[in-house]
Amino acid sequence: MEKTLAYKPQNAWEDADAKTRKEMESLALRYMDFITRCKTERETVEYVRERLAAQGYTEDFNGERVMRPMRGKAIFAARRGTLPLDQGLALLAAHTDTPRLDFKQRPLVEQPGVAQAKTHYYGGIRKYQWLARPLALHGIVVRADGSILEVTIGEKPGEPVFCIADLLPHLAQKQVTQTVSDAFEGEKLNIILGHSPKAAKGKKDDAPKEPIKAQLLEILHKKYAITEEDLITAELQAVPAGPARFVGFDKALVGGYGQDDRICVFTALEALLEAEATGRSMAVIFWDKEEIGSDGATGAASRFLQYCIEDLTQAWAPGLAASRVFMQTRALSADVQAALDPDYQEVHEKQNAALLGYGPCFSKFTGSRGKYGASEADAEYFGALRNLYNSKNIPWQAAELGRVDHGGGGTVALFLAAYGMHVIDLGPAVLSMHSPFELASCADLHTTVRAYRAFLESTI
Ligand code: MN
Ligand code: MN
Repeated sequence: MEKTLAYKPQNAWEDADAKTRKEMESLALRYMDFITRCKTERETVEYVRERLAAQGYTEDFNGERVMRPMRGKAIFAARRGTLPLDQGLALLAAHTDTPRLDFKQRPLVEQPGVAQAKTHYYGGIRKYQWLARPLALHGIVVRADGSILEVTIGEKPGEPVFCIADLLPHLAQKQVTQTVSDAFEGEKLNIILGHSPKAAKGKKDDAPKEPIKAQLLEILHKKYAITEEDLITAELQAVPAGPARFVGFDKALVGGYGQDDRICVFTALEALLEAEATGRSMAVIFWDKEEIGSDGATGAASRFLQYCIEDLTQAWAPGLAASRVFMQTRALSADVQAALDPDYQEVHEKQNAALLGYGPCFSKFTGSRGKYGASEADAEYFGALRNLYNSKNIPWQAAELGRVDHGGGGTVALFLAAYGMHVIDLGPAVLSMHSPFELASCADLHTTVRAYRAFLESTI
């Protein structure tokens, strides 16, 4: 790279030779398989657990490769490095949850012509994006006898999908004059589950009051041995149905659901599994609940990470204060950044916006309206990472989320910073973030694995 006084971000496609482009494609194919199969936090954590187990990670913290899943929704893993533990960990933190539609506790209703599931959305969605599109159901149902039914319906060819109807344009004349938030109500996000009524036996008076709902309950009982009460205690999530796909004639983008933040879970896991143990001991933490504020037992505000690091310290360096490990830890908050939207460039401040294809993006701070609610990385740590990536010719960029006083958002960085860790956000840019079909660059996917791996192997 030619050095000049002025700074110019490096496009990750430009330097990629034929071999690198082949690697990008094969990595993208494996990644698409992952986001096609893993659409909930539970599925994601199980995928991570299986891949760690295949590489010799066990739940015995006395070992050199350790992991600890938490309620199937979060997972911690660590691997011994060269530097002693009093130098802290090199930690990658990402989140496993994604915006979606959760079934209400009493979901089933019958309305004219259909039986539906009422929903309560999870995380930041644009409600209209969920109408008139095929949806799949993922989750678990705990039956009265305590047995657990794992649900994935609507992904395989031949399986039915589910759908929320939308208003036809002819009848939307009033709606199109409303504001978007008034036009699309949360209480209208009702998912069609069935349409055929239960046949009346014998006399007409015997017909069930809600024949379509009755028929649906009958099918659910016959096929899955569940009752309406079982749904009350279930976790059922409606997500966009179907596989991730390449996008564009050049197949240079990956389109699919849940890339915020599963692209960082995937790239962090790849980096952990590939890295040489040449630096600090390495760790990853994949949390749930980030999209709704990180609260709860499996979210970043919980004590889970603290307990894991305390136990790890006791096992690997008895007598060492865990606080020393926390204070010395170098962390990357591995989360995505909003890519500059080609059609809505005015919501960004272009010089400080992330571009697709320019490598993972640093966010020195998050928050909004005067950096409120942010943790901010210090210049020394940011500078050391920048020098690391420049020395390895790994493209990177820096951005903030949207124009001042117009954009903003949070990540898990502040929860790591609370322990005194060195922490900064670093992750790929994503277009159409939080939509049912998010877009990411194959070049950024590949470069992010390189960047996370170089971080884990370094002694910065
Ligand atoms: Mn995120
Ligand atoms: Mn998000």
